[in-house]
Amino acid sequence: MRYVKVVKGTRGIHLFKGFKIVLTGDESLVSTYHGTYLGFASGLPMDVFPAFAGKLFFPLESGEHGRMKTSQYGLCKVEASLLNSGFTRDEVAIVDPRRLDEAVGPDTRAIGIGVLDPLGINYGTALLRVVLKLMGVETRLQSYMSWATMKILNHPIISRNRQRLKVIVGGQGVWEILDTGLQKRLGIDTIVEGEGELVVPTLFRKAVEGGELQSYVRGPPVPVDKIPVIRTPSRGLVEVSRGCGRGCKFCNPTLLMYRIIPLDKILREVEINVRGGEHRITLHSEDFFRYGSSDLNPRREKVLELVEAVVKYPGVEAVSVDFATASTVMADPKLVREVGELLGLGNGEFSIIELGIETASPRLLKIIAPGKAKPFSAEEWPRIVEDAIVVLNDAGWWICATLIVGLPGETPEDIRANLKLIERLEPYNVFVFPLPFIPSGSLRRTKGLYTSDLLPRGENLDLILLAVYDAIKKIRKLSMKMVKQAPPIIRQILGGLLYFAATIGLRKLQRQIPSLNRRTMKNIVLETPLRNSINA
Ligand code: SF4
Repeated sequence: MRYVKVVKGTRGIHLFKGFKIVLTGDESLVSTYHGTYLGFASGLPMDVFPAFAGKLFFPLESGEHGRMKTSQYGLCKVEASLLNSGFTRDEVAIVDPRRLDEAVGPDTRAIGIGVLDPLGINYGTALLRVVLKLMGVETRLQSYMSWATMKILNHPIISRNRQRLKVIVGGQGVWEILDTGLQKRLGIDTIVEGEGELVVPTLFRKAVEGGELQSYVRGPPVPVDKIPVIRTPSRGLVEVSRGCGRGCKFCNPTLLMYRIIPLDKILREVEINVRGGEHRITLHSEDFFRYGSSDLNPRREKVLELVEAVVKYPGVEAVSVDFATASTVMADPKLVREVGELLGLGNGEFSIIELGIETASPRLLKIIAPGKAKPFSAEEWPRIVEDAIVVLNDAGWWICATLIVGLPGETPEDIRANLKLIERLEPYNVFVFPLPFIPSGSLRRTKGLYTSDLLPRGENLDLILLAVYDAIKKIRKLSMKMVKQAPPIIRQILGGLLYFAATIGLRKLQRQIPSLNRRTMKNIVLETPLRNSINA
């Protein structure tokens, strides 16, 4: 049997029969992506992104018995909670999903699996399917991420040890399993929904002791002093605040409570990453420029103190931030420029920041995201978004912006507002991705979960076509920059593939442009820039 190994350790020779607790996630979720921006490929259906492509796009770094050297942040937090509760590093490991059979054995009592999009139905995956459909590419297979998640759940090593171990699943994607009622069929003993840190120690302890587990556990928001410091490097990602509090109805409810992580804790996680060879740090939050503030107004001294401390931290080579909110950007545009300077943006440092537009319709914004525009009014929102994009561009960022289309209560006027904004944003360094609405947050169960329920129709399809055409054009230009951090040969291959795929995609989409829904073209009366770019 492969999982029973003779191991020479500090305590002499012993047989390794598996870690007591194995934590893992699908191979795209836990990958380093070679430091590129190509993680989105995991949402592609396997008709166009076959299994072998995953080996190239999603490298994994692991050592003895498959223990990962760097992994996904959520798994690192769960591991830290378990270690803080008394489990030892010999008992718990975050494991390379491609090497599960080296980590699971007769001693294994629990396997914890982090999921993001286990059934391949989240916003990003839905958009990729719609875009492929617009390109005339029919797809029928599951997404790579879904396939890779199922590969873990159906892994022979788990089946062989099934009598002895419990399967526990957590992470942002658990709603998909809960809402489709597939938990039993997937062989999952317990689903943890929400934040895991407070509940996982008791749950895993029970599993290790052979106790009966509840089928569902709700993890409450964790007070900031109970959020553990990670022990395994997290691919350079370090959380600086958790939650948001703006209360968008489609958003994950766990983000309701806003918490600020103290600087000393942040620096300890930076240290863990640097020591583990991760020299490029990403400061993770839902709204970076609000760091340190207990209300919606930025506290510039806190933000600057944080950025300076991380930039100057010994061993850190580059720092990026992942999410911003347009209203916070416009509350202190000067701060954004100062942060851009500290991060060295524009001097060869290429960085993308994500921005949620959600909708350009003030009417709809008031209903589904009432806190989004604050401290500004909903009426000002479209202008705030455009101005924020200008400010972020001037500071050196490219922006990955998202809109949600097909929201409950959306009217043709709302769609036209979105179309007009997309047109106005065409000259800027921004990719706008209109995501098909998936019932989530407090809007869960407002719509079916089958593909036919989720596909946008009519003018929204045209909107996706226009926005994605523009985004792919820009991505093609940036293809080498988007893979710049990959090792030289991989960089050439991935950059070439991205350029090639973008070129093919543009050609296919171009064929659809003449058939744009006539109503849409008549109603939105596209001004010159986007029309020209489409006709180019
Ligand atoms: S602003 Fe973003 S993170 Fe905050 S509630 Fe809205 S969607 Fe969620």
